[in-house]
Amino acid sequence: MAVKNVVALAGGVGGAKLAHGLARCLPPGHLTVIVNVGDDFTHYGLHISPDLDTVMYTLAEIANPQTGWGLVDESWQMLGMLEKYGETPWFRLGDRDIATHILRTHLLTQGETLTAIVRKMSQALQIDHTILPATNDHFATMVDTAEHGTLVFQHYFVRHRWQPTVTRIWYDGNATITDEAAYVLEKADAIVICPSNPILSIDPILSVGDMRDRLRLRRVPCVAVSPLIHGKAVKGPADKIMRELGVDASNTGIARYYDRLIDALVVDKGDAPQQGAYLETNILMLTPADRERLAREILQFLEGMT
Ligand code: GDP
Repeated sequence: MAVKNVVALAGGVGGAKLAHGLARCLPPGHLTVIVNVGDDFTHYGLHISPDLDTVMYTLAEIANPQTGWGLVDESWQMLGMLEKYGETPWFRLGDRDIATHILRTHLLTQGETLTAIVRKMSQALQIDHTILPATNDHFATMVDTAEHGTLVFQHYFVRHRWQPTVTRIWYDGNATITDEAAYVLEKADAIVICPSNPILSIDPILSVGDMRDRLRLRRVPCVAVSPLIHGKAVKGPADKIMRELGVDASNTGIARYYDRLIDALVVDKGDAPQQGAYLETNILMLTPADRERLAREILQFLEGMT
């Protein structure tokens, strides 16, 4: 059977890269990316959705290619002005990027849902696939640390540069998945868990309402792409946080972590897990061509499974 409709689960930078590859391989309208909102927070009164924006900018091909987040050709005058007022802005908001946060905050206060806002912005940016927040409800990733007690996610990740030792992750808010996310999961021919941080980006998606059960009870193939290459995260704290929380920082650990949720793990060459099915290939995405090549291989692999 052909894989026509694909649902991808993604966090920010790592997830967006593969989502972009999938978007370029699939016909318009056939990819839905369900995105983590556990990283969302309020800053200077603005509702910031870092992962949704990273996926949106990446699919619109206007993301900053150096950082993977924020916009290309960005300027930082607003931050300079905040500093003039004596502020020490630790979360970088670019001058053009801030328009997204102002509009999102405005529309939320008008009673629009996050789903409707992302749809409106994606259409304006001419994205011909669908981006969905995992939930419209309040749902915040909280990080208990040895050094600073409980931190809201962005304080742990950006303000403290993910250096504190994590002792526990939990979620503030009782959220349900959106009707739109439930519908696309029902219609999907295949599901791809992008190489996002399993603990910080994917778990908060799986922990919204009955999302984890929906994935366990799926009738279509599901693969995950590892964010680790020989036990090291390509970027960020995935291996550090896995160790801190007692998860084996290897593909075997990831295969166990996603046990019963996936049919196979996509891993780098020579880096096979000791349990479960896998696809071995080059999983490092340095260029847009790499993203597309990996996405195509995954789609072919999924076709073979249906
Ligand atoms: P964040 O919310 O911006 O941190 O983004 P994600 O959770 O989506 O992505 C972070 C993860 O992506 C890290 O654990 C990285 O190891 C992984 N990652 C980044 N680039 C690549 C890549 O080219 N290939 C693979 N396989 N993983 C990557």
